Amino acid sequence: QQSPPRNASSGRDRLLGGLLSPDFDGPSCRSRYEGSERWKPSPFPVSSHLVRKLREYEAHHRRCGPGTAAYRAARAQLLSGRNGDRGECRYVVWLPIQGLGNRMLGLVSTFLYAVLTGRVLLVHEPAEMEALFCEPFPGTSWLLPPSGFPSLDRGFWSSCPESYASMLESNVIGYDYDDDGGGKNASAMLPAYVYLHLENMDLRLQNHTFCEEDHRALDRFNWMVLRSDSYFAVALFLVPAYRDQLGRMFPAKGAVFHHLGRYLLHPGNRAWGVVRRFFDGYLAGADERLGVQVRVVPQSHTPFEAMYDRIQRCARENGLLPQVTDEPFAGVVNGTANGSKARTKAVLLVSLKPEYYERLHGTYYANATVSGEVVTVYQPSHDGDQRTESRAHNERALAEIFLLSYCDEMVTTGWSTFGYVAHALAGVRPWLLVPQDWSKARDDDVACVRPASVEPCLHSPPSLVCRGGGGGKGLDDPVARVPFLRHCEDVGFGLKLV
Ligand code: GDP
Repeated sequence: QQSPPRNASSGRDRLLGGLLSPDFDGPSCRSRYEGSERWKPSPFPVSSHLVRKLREYEAHHRRCGPGTAAYRAARAQLLSGRNGDRGECRYVVWLPIQGLGNRMLGLVSTFLYAVLTGRVLLVHEPAEMEALFCEPFPGTSWLLPPSGFPSLDRGFWSSCPESYASMLESNVIGYDYDDDGGGKNASAMLPAYVYLHLENMDLRLQNHTFCEEDHRALDRFNWMVLRSDSYFAVALFLVPAYRDQLGRMFPAKGAVFHHLGRYLLHPGNRAWGVVRRFFDGYLAGADERLGVQVRVVPQSHTPFEAMYDRIQRCARENGLLPQVTDEPFAGVVNGTANGSKARTKAVLLVSLKPEYYERLHGTYYANATVSGEVVTVYQPSHDGDQRTESRAHNERALAEIFLLSYCDEMVTTGWSTFGYVAHALAGVRPWLLVPQDWSKARDDDVACVRPASVEPCLHSPPSLVCRGGGGGKGLDDPVARVPFLRHCEDVGFGLKLV
């Protein structure tokens, strides 16, 4: 019995249980509602509290977003060089860095931070990201207007004078302040904005970024610039002040990116055109879809044969692909005895390199399968190398992340944020190919592991050395005391929500 193809207009829940606002028109962003119809129904219910917070956020963004009087006033204050009194409209400007997967993790985390702190998220969109994603909030824009933000061209880094860590060090800001007194420590006298550096630095986040007192101090600024390549949403769960809100928004902690990514990240029309053509043309008709993502980074010196062997072993040991045989019509008699069509399995192979596709495609092209199942193998593109500065390259990458997310099962490469985003959007626990370091690989290593949740991994845990922590309390392992945290299966020191 063939299951109906999961293509458009199948009467699925196009608003994803209330995650998506119905207040958009179609043509400006085709993916928003067409995309949701291609996903399998989510295994994770959306809480009514999350829906309420999203609608409240959207209304707040409309009141404060670019083009409003409130925005003009806040910008004038920003340009004055002083923080001024606490505004009703407060902002966090997100700056992109690294590849697309990293960017999507950082952006979703920044949005969650904005929701928790009552800030409005503004996105700096460099040329290579132009119209890559749709506007996510109805009746307003999330793009930082091009009129210029102080120091944006000069750049920000961990120890620049505007960074929070530098301000702490030079006593520009302290933990103790007196807003009633109007003295030196009053919030109005602070610099006009603070830069929060949340990039992965040697697999750690900077000190003083996830302690309660830091978040109280950061809260004093009306404008914040934040740059992150990391899924720091995980670390927000470590700040006691946010825990109650987070608990109500996400009763299932293992579905944070799954819901927020589906809410926030809609491919723009160019990337969506690629998804639609490829999905409808090659994948929609199959009974089952298996995604295989092979991320080979130059530094890892991954030998092709060893990696290909891992993929094959992972597929065989977990029943993901049927075995092939020399017998050209194996399984066919049974399969077609009653005139029914053989089952089909489409494999979407996604990689910068062509050779994994060529080998797998060749295998199922030349040979029948023992089960009689027909396996077709497709690769949408093979750009060779990462070219983050190219818009067309990023569109293909985004299209492939979404195509993967429409698969029923997935084999992904450990450590890859590209793979994390795809399986978290899908709501599918992948089979993770390990290891990263091929110099230590052995033939009898396990080929792939099944993670405990669909969530991405935070590769760079925060340092929890806080005031009064004295290095003792701060250095303990949060996994030991937070029941919904685990270390990642592929990155032993990383943290993930389950
Ligand atoms: P990570 O390096 O695996 O964590 O993932 P990122 O997405 O952050 O960076 C890798 C970048 O390389 C992607 O954003 C793409 O630009 C490119 N890339 C890597 N793998 C693929 C792939 O399978 N297909 C395409 N189209 N691009 C890829």
